[in-house]
Amino acid sequence: RQTIKDLLADYKKVLHHDITVQGWVRAFRSNRFIALNDGSTINNLQVVVDFENFDEETIKKINTASSLKVVGEVVESQGAGQTVEIIAKKITVLGDNFFDELQATILQPKKHSLEKLREQAHLRFRTNLFGAVFRVRHAVSFAIHSFFNQNQFFYINTPVITGADAEGAGEMFGVTNFDLDNIPKTEDGEIDFTQDFFGKKTNLTVSGQLEGETAAMGLGRIYTFGPTFRAENSNTTRHLAEFWMIEPEVAFNNLEDNIDLAEDFLKYVIKYVLDNCKDDLEFLDKRFEEEQKQKPEKERAKEGLIEKLENVIAKRFKRVSYTEAIEILLNSKENKKGKFQYPVEKWGTDLQSEHERFLVEKHFESPVVLFDYPKEIKAFYMKLNDDNKTVAAMDVLFPGIGEIIGGSEREARLDVLKTKMAEMHVDEHELWWYLDTRRFGSVPHAGFGLGLERLVLFVTGMTNIRDVIPFPRTPKNAEF
Ligand code: ATP
Ligand code: MG
Ligand code: MG
Ligand code: MG
Repeated sequence: RQTIKDLLADYKKVLHHDITVQGWVRAFRSNRFIALNDGSTINNLQVVVDFENFDEETIKKINTASSLKVVGEVVESQGAGQTVEIIAKKITVLGDNFFDELQATILQPKKHSLEKLREQAHLRFRTNLFGAVFRVRHAVSFAIHSFFNQNQFFYINTPVITGADAEGAGEMFGVTNFDLDNIPKTEDGEIDFTQDFFGKKTNLTVSGQLEGETAAMGLGRIYTFGPTFRAENSNTTRHLAEFWMIEPEVAFNNLEDNIDLAEDFLKYVIKYVLDNCKDDLEFLDKRFEEEQKQKPEKERAKEGLIEKLENVIAKRFKRVSYTEAIEILLNSKENKKGKFQYPVEKWGTDLQSEHERFLVEKHFESPVVLFDYPKEIKAFYMKLNDDNKTVAAMDVLFPGIGEIIGGSEREARLDVLKTKMAEMHVDEHELWWYLDTRRFGSVPHAGFGLGLERLVLFVTGMTNIRDVIPFPRTPKNAEF
């Protein structure tokens, strides 16, 4: 049994033979032409219904959304826009289809809003747009594994449930196996959260990095690729409560190696998608273009989607220190005229996505890697630079997105690390196992975290992160 994608690509082998295809109806024109799709490709297969072979009852049962099995002869198509079609000899309706007005609207191209579709767990996958997005998401994931495999990284799975309360204080979801009829209480009558996980307080992971570092200290090059959770009640178009993170960690790498790795990695994945998702990208490119036309001229993207992807892989990313970036921001017209929602006042402030996007989209017109951030605004495990003020951190910033990757060279010196932990109130005893990596043959090492959905946003030209994950988890959204 072939997919429609295979058949369209290689129909000559079965020309004038009878074949069987199965799929869903995307459109049914003049009771004669069925556009059939099985999810394998954005392209539909045209099925021609010859009235003589079918009674009215069968025809009546077919409408948009029907699931069909079709036996018919493969012929070259006379119609414009397609090379091949099937003359149906037998059509079986495979299952129930309680199709109504709402579904009809949803399945019609352009009639639906993305918000409405988010409420349609199932039919969302049936649309051209989400078909394209999720096929591209698959290709991105596959390319990620392929890149690391080619570069001799080992895929390591870090735990989803973790007792390491290192990075994400305040951003963690707790894990509990409480008996709700018998919730453990402390002497003061408060809920005893230390009883969470069989007697230990645990959380859903906010990052696999600390565990990943431990693995890299024996295996050399590793990467994680798994679900990550942040209890941030942020309703932005860039944040999810559950997202997929990719975190490589490399022994013997310094900050510059780390930036090189991030750049090579992003370019490899984007090129893979350009080479392997042509049809879906062309569809997304058209959609992107139409979306731009709706916007006021000043806000329109300067390049088409495919053009943007090609440009990103063609040039070296701009590398700029945090200090230099702050100078640029402080002196910018935008800052002086109060155009930023959060004005930039001095060295030391954290950058907001509006600042990141200004640097990328207006100032440099290129992806930007910022490095050497003030130590106060970055995590405790980042390497302290000789100036004692900055750490060897780096963020990769992309047009339309802002931060897509955050990474650093890690602090490999036990004494410096311990001092930083004390300064930042990170409990040394809880992380004894992590500190061990600095006790027995510590080496320089570096790594980064990439949010899968941010990269998928970028390559698909979508604008809301909820639309690039099959089942988005955002505040108040966990039903399906
Ligand atoms: P941001 O500044 O955008 O909130 P962050 O600095 O908090 O991101 P990191 O802890 O550095 O994020 O995580 C590494 C990467 O994971 C980010 O660069 C981003 O691609 C992705 N990421 C972080 N938080 C989220 C989220 N809530 N939803 C989706 N992706 C995320
Ligand atoms: Mg954040
Ligand atoms: Mg950030
Ligand atoms: Mg970050």
